[in-house]
Amino acid sequence: MTTLLQLSGISKHFSKKSDVVQRLLNRVGGRYETEVVRAVDDISLAIKAGEVVGLVGESGCGKSTLGRIVSGILPATAGHVLYRGKEAAQMSRAERDAMSLEVQMIFQNPMASLNPRMKVRDIIGEAPVVHGLIKSSERTDYVNNLLRQVGLDPAYANRYPHQFSGGQRQRIGIARALAVQPKIIVCDESIAALDVSIQAQVLNLFMDLREQLGLTYLFISHDLGVVGHLSDRVAIMYLGRIVEFGKTEELYANPQHPYTKGLLAELPSVRSTRKQYIPIKGEMPSPLHPPPGCHFHPRCPYAMPRCETERPELRALSPERSMACHLEA
Ligand code: SF4
Repeated sequence: MTTLLQLSGISKHFSKKSDVVQRLLNRVGGRYETEVVRAVDDISLAIKAGEVVGLVGESGCGKSTLGRIVSGILPATAGHVLYRGKEAAQMSRAERDAMSLEVQMIFQNPMASLNPRMKVRDIIGEAPVVHGLIKSSERTDYVNNLLRQVGLDPAYANRYPHQFSGGQRQRIGIARALAVQPKIIVCDESIAALDVSIQAQVLNLFMDLREQLGLTYLFISHDLGVVGHLSDRVAIMYLGRIVEFGKTEELYANPQHPYTKGLLAELPSVRSTRKQYIPIKGEMPSPLHPPPGCHFHPRCPYAMPRCETERPELRALSPERSMACHLEA
């Protein structure tokens, strides 16, 4: 499989806005330093054509920010994004436009991401006409086909988003993404807001579309169970950094990083043979003040003195496996 998208040393920092007192302090000669959140900290990741890469971590770990960088919604503070081998920052306008159509994002809350004043026919059919993928005269058939493809009746095309259930709205969001003929879909907690029974249906739809259209997915979720169900490879993220990466089966059967083990400990299993791991204790620290050294050390049952000062780099354990931890694998 060829690499479709490559992230190299990607970081994203957000500065906390100073308040009135801090601004006044600066004016009278005081020195107030702006606080910076390192939401994404030096991440490298390659996504191959046709595969599903899962990105897992607790809320606030930076996975959604990384998804937005991949889909071009947010610029990175540092690092390089290569699409089809070409650096995104050096692309021509036409190449960047093509990339922005080929990498689409599906969000968690379909109601918030669909324009409530537009009919479904316009929500789905507007972009492909504007971008010249179809003619105006082809729009009705094109939208009807997409609605069928995502399991909705084309007779609903003249309705508004509020006239649908949550699961149906997510299907409309998927149809809108498909309308511009994407190659990569970034799913950001795309089933998290749905009822459990509907989640399974939408997951199956994602997998059917992958087969039919040869799609590539970056599937972002806090739920290790869901990600394990559909991903070929999984990246585990903690406070802005990838701490473990590998093929799904190997990583779930033999996790190496203490954080991955902790996440797996909380995953229900019907198999009594599954290894037992120590669950993670405590809350994730604020990304404004991450612990020094290994960010995970205050919660890690295996922490050693060097973990408090020395950042563990992501190192290869095998050609397909890497981990950021001072422990021997
Ligand atoms: Fe735990 Fe140390 Fe490994 Fe971090 S580097 S996960 S604190 S053992």
